[in-house]
Amino acid sequence: MKRINYRKLAFERYRDRLFCAHCGFGILEVLEIAHLDGHRQNNDVANLVILCPTCHKMLDLDLISTEMITLMRDRPKIVRWSKRMKDAGKKAALSRKKRQAARRRKRRLAALKAAATRKRRLSASPVGLLQNPGEQR
Ligand SMILES: [Zn+2]
Repeated sequence: MKRINYRKLAFERYRDRLFCAHCGFGILEVLEIAHLDGHRQNNDVANLVILCPTCHKMLDLDLISTEMITLMRDRPKIVRWSKRMKDAGKKAALSRKKRQAARRRKRRLAALKAAATRKRRLSASPVGLLQNPGEQR
């Protein structure tokens, strides 16, 4: 009997989801191919599923049902970002505001310090005026 490379078969068929169908683990070298009906001779792609070793073991022990694995394997992989991000937009706006306020405060302090320095220089030595005519008012 010709040995079928079911690993290659499964990887080709499910190439848009190369991770454990149950938990999402995604290191290719570690992933295994499970036979849903438990028969290693049945290499129909519908009988194959990509699983990590742990989930494979759990499937074999029937701790995860075959129906569940099949459902998870075939469900559309659409990421709903709104679900993941939740209130990220609001949070980002808030931290942007905070950063801007901090920057303004910093700039204001720097300006005050510069003004104080100018004043001090002017009153200390009139020569400073000659060296920095641009600072004259
Ligand atoms: Zn897994």
